[in-house]
Amino acid sequence: MTFRTRTFVGVLVASALALAVSTTLVTRSVRSTMLHNIETGLMRQTRLAAELLANRATLPAPQAEADALAELIDGRVTFIDATGRVLGDSEVGERGLAALENHATRREVVSAHQHGFGVDLRQSRTTGIETMYAAVAVRNGAVAVVRIALPLADVEERLLAARQLAWAGLIAGLGAALLLTWGTSIWISRRVQAIAALAGRYRQGDFSRPARDFGRDEIGTVARVLDDTARDLGARLTEVARERAHLDAILQGMAEGAVLVDRAGKLVVSNPAVRLMLRLPDDPEGRHFLEVVRHPEITTLLGAALTGARPSPAEVQLDHESRRSFIARVVPVEASRGGGAVLVLHDVTELRQADQVRRDFVANVSHELRTPLTAIRGYVEALLDGPTTPDQSDKFLKVIARHAGRMERLVSDLLRLARLDAKQELLQRAHCQIPSLLTAVVSEMEPAIDARGVTVRTQIDLDAEVTYGDPLKLHDVFRNLLENAINYSPEGGDIEMTSRRAGYVLELSVSDHGPGIPDADIGRIFERFYRVDRSRTRDAGGTGLGLSIVRHLVQLHGGSVSARNRDGGGTCVSVLLPDPPAGT
Ligand code: ATP
Ligand code: MG
Repeated sequence: MTFRTRTFVGVLVASALALAVSTTLVTRSVRSTMLHNIETGLMRQTRLAAELLANRATLPAPQAEADALAELIDGRVTFIDATGRVLGDSEVGERGLAALENHATRREVVSAHQHGFGVDLRQSRTTGIETMYAAVAVRNGAVAVVRIALPLADVEERLLAARQLAWAGLIAGLGAALLLTWGTSIWISRRVQAIAALAGRYRQGDFSRPARDFGRDEIGTVARVLDDTARDLGARLTEVARERAHLDAILQGMAEGAVLVDRAGKLVVSNPAVRLMLRLPDDPEGRHFLEVVRHPEITTLLGAALTGARPSPAEVQLDHESRRSFIARVVPVEASRGGGAVLVLHDVTELRQADQVRRDFVANVSHELRTPLTAIRGYVEALLDGPTTPDQSDKFLKVIARHAGRMERLVSDLLRLARLDAKQELLQRAHCQIPSLLTAVVSEMEPAIDARGVTVRTQIDLDAEVTYGDPLKLHDVFRNLLENAINYSPEGGDIEMTSRRAGYVLELSVSDHGPGIPDADIGRIFERFYRVDRSRTRDAGGTGLGLSIVRHLVQLHGGSVSARNRDGGGTCVSVLLPDPPAGT
């Protein structure tokens, strides 16, 4: 049943009941008022009749007098003596008197004897009609009680008319109530529907202010309160959505992996980083962490945190091929915030690698220093120990000098790398003439070139003769590269140094016809202390720092350096310099 029908039926039934009750009450009250008026009138007439009959010791023709009186007052008149015998009655007549029963026990007569007057309403035994009787005691007369009776048939008739009028009023009232109720229920139902439509709009997220006014009555108040509540809720929802978006942005942008599990161990939130680290399925939310996290250390930590413990952070290895290291921190979420646990994975692979590089570096430095030191010490002890021939002494001292020189180079290279690391070496750019730069390098290396019997050729393109760089640092770069080429060239080999331009890049390269570099090592020769063949290069005097210094210096210029094996054998190391250099 719709709200409208219910309102309609309810109001209709209520008004019908009210109308029916009021109509009944009205007709009852009309009847009782009428009876009261009749009774008063009747009583007055009876008293008058009693007064007329008072002090009449004899009454020769009671029947005739009763008839005459009845004629005057238009009612039934009965004269009753002290014993209850009827002396005259206008209704039955002279002849009927004998058949009349004694009236001493009639209620109105009994009351008249006792109190002087009496009234009764009943069906007449004589006429069979509903009749009102009034009896009054007569003072000192032959008639003891005079009674006047009035049949109420007429009253009932008048009452019927009044009742019909009342019921007609009721029907008219009901008709009006019907129309009014129908109209009201439609009006109320329209307003309720308007509120429902508004609520529907809010549900779809449209919180704009409604165009219509709700009105000032209770429905209007309810609608306004609802509207304000919904608007308030809408504002809060927007706020929550904004906060959620912020949180999402943070989670998405985080390099750390983050997971939130609820009290039951189900994933509530996970960011892309953690999905990658733990190789979680695309949509892991809602699943138990044991189902999706395949790393025993992490599941143990999560399990412990869910029991309320605060496990210490643990370093875990994930991703077997790339062996990445992570610090896993798990903290329980307070019960007042819903419980559960938060896992944060922090990638420390680079940190650990840097640590390893540092450790390797220290080990390498110690090793590189110890080797010449041991040699120096050995020869010094040999010199101290005993008499040596001048030739031997000379030989020993030369070895000591060579190792001392090597140590010196090592230390100065290390110091330079430290300065480069700390960015203490600044570029002092100038326009460098590449031909003179390379000539200076070659002439500096002349003794080594001669010793090895190699030939150095330079080929400089016309458009690649000048660059804007730090001449001293570029000199160091090419001295190192040429030194390597000489060291790793066969006796009497050829070495080429070239300079050419490719657009905005200047390519300077040093090529030799040496053994080349195995493919497995070629990517690593720019690392500190990295040497392809340790035993051989140490003889050649190398420490494995030259190329890392070269790389630093080239990078300072904004360029890059790489090595490749040439087709015909040998190595080619190329330096690419931006030209014009970046920033000028
Ligand atoms: P340093 O230059 O510090 O005296 P080094 O020459 O051994 O010592 P790098 O110049 O850094 O060290 O070179 C690293 C390694 O790369 C060398 O030990 C060598 O094995 C390899 N290498 C470098 N240049 C050549 C080349 N032209 N031919 C073959 N191997 C090379
Ligand atoms: Mg070198």
